[in-house]
Amino acid sequence: MPNPKEILNKARLDWAHNWLKTPKKFYAGGSFLAPQGKTTWKVVNPSSEEVLCEVPVANEADVNVIVKAAGDAFQAGCWPESTRRFRREALIRIGNLIREHAEELATLESLCNGKLFSESLIDDVPESADVFDYYAGWIDKLYGDTVPVDPGFINYTRKEPVGVCALIVPWNFPLLLACWKIAPALAMGNTVIVKPSEYTPLSILRLCEIIHEKANLPRGVFNVVMGDAETGRLISEHPGIHKVSFTGSTVVGKKVLMGAAQSNLKTVTLELGGKSPNILFADLPDLEAAIERSCTAMFSHKGEKCSEPTRILIEDSIYDKVVAALGERANRIKLGDAFEEGVDQGPQAHQAHFKKVLDYIEIGKKEGAKLVCGGVSEQPNKKGFFVRPTIFSEVKPEMRIAQEEIFGPVLVAIRFKTEEEAIRIANQTPYGLAAGLWTSDLSRAHRVAAKLDSGMVFVNRYGCYDFASPFGGFKQSGWGKEMAIHSLDAYTKTKSVWIKL
Ligand code: NAD
Repeated sequence: MPNPKEILNKARLDWAHNWLKTPKKFYAGGSFLAPQGKTTWKVVNPSSEEVLCEVPVANEADVNVIVKAAGDAFQAGCWPESTRRFRREALIRIGNLIREHAEELATLESLCNGKLFSESLIDDVPESADVFDYYAGWIDKLYGDTVPVDPGFINYTRKEPVGVCALIVPWNFPLLLACWKIAPALAMGNTVIVKPSEYTPLSILRLCEIIHEKANLPRGVFNVVMGDAETGRLISEHPGIHKVSFTGSTVVGKKVLMGAAQSNLKTVTLELGGKSPNILFADLPDLEAAIERSCTAMFSHKGEKCSEPTRILIEDSIYDKVVAALGERANRIKLGDAFEEGVDQGPQAHQAHFKKVLDYIEIGKKEGAKLVCGGVSEQPNKKGFFVRPTIFSEVKPEMRIAQEEIFGPVLVAIRFKTEEEAIRIANQTPYGLAAGLWTSDLSRAHRVAAKLDSGMVFVNRYGCYDFASPFGGFKQSGWGKEMAIHSLDAYTKTKSVWIKL
């Protein structure tokens, strides 16, 4: 007899498969729009390789219509000039709607991304809701300045919305990363166009329906366009868009920047790739806890997290012990369908990415790194993009597997002897998103944290996040910060007003 959990799972999937049958459309000006072009994209379940549904890919005409809808809504002023209470209540309503529909959203997320249903339901969806509450609270708390200029004048600043904001997001946290942008952009009175990744548009499409039915937003404030790289290019270059907030790869981030520069010099914020170091000094307070956390931070969400600690730098005296323990821990990870009970890791999000991860594993072998565990594709059902958690040891800092972002469950272990060497290796990649260090020495913790060229540093616990704390990288990991007041700055422009007395 099926257990209650299986019955619940089946009900969720039945609901999703029915929903998938409904036609998928763009959303602009408060209406669902049929595409003008004929190109579609097949959304695939990476656990089974089955096609879930087809979504339209926006062409230039579609993008023009959607941008116009967002522009008209901004110009009409029904959102930027609405009362703070109106906007605050709308944001809180959206957060509550996400909570109400959490199971649906998590099901769709896991179906097309492959992350565990529990990861979607427990990590991603609640945070997606909470970020609306957080930014609803900011709406009446962002002040301009009174500026101490010479007598005879008053000078003050005003924080004004930027206008039409295009929010381009990747496939690894499709709903969450979109909400990280939607909430502050709306809070500050902008109108938005969300472009989810072509691989994972489902949760945003469902959110769009929910917002349409229940959020009572003025028409044209929230818009959604589906599409591929070409659609992204059209957005980056569109003169009717005033801001692009982009999260994705460094290569594409540079293209977005070029598109913005060559069109209307729209402002751009970029959250890009990473190759984050995680330094284990021999004097760390709790070796077991450090190994456990390093493993979880690395392999959860199947290693598809921008800030995950993909380079573990281990002091010589504990190197062999730590590598053996990491290997033992990684070998216990069970792979399987995102909805299966007892599974620890789902498949990589899509086929091209799966192949890229496997290619990097081959590169690592050829470069002479030692394979501790994994190193193979695992296909429990002969289908699906499964890669076993993989650890390479005796990795040299200059190897490609230690320099380039793999974005899958592949960890490289590098040996160091001194603090200076650890810092040098840690900083020796083009990226600078996050870094971790583990030590009992308080002075060393501060000393090393200051020297790491990374936007976020975690001491004695890798991976701490809070809406109140800035998120974002240095070097080629990004431009600008998200979260806290930083996102509000990103979606406002500051006007200086002078009055002669
Ligand atoms: P990607 O750069 O391929 O795509 C991201 C988005 O950009 C997608 O919506 C895609 O359709 C669109 N796009 C593709 N080509 C474009 C173009 N020429 N112009 C405009 N838009 C275009 O990234 P991905 O493979 O979806 O995601 C993985 C990457 O995202 C990794 O590099 C990862 O590190 C990064 N990432 C960074 C953060 C962060 O906060 N720093 C968070 C999550 C993911």
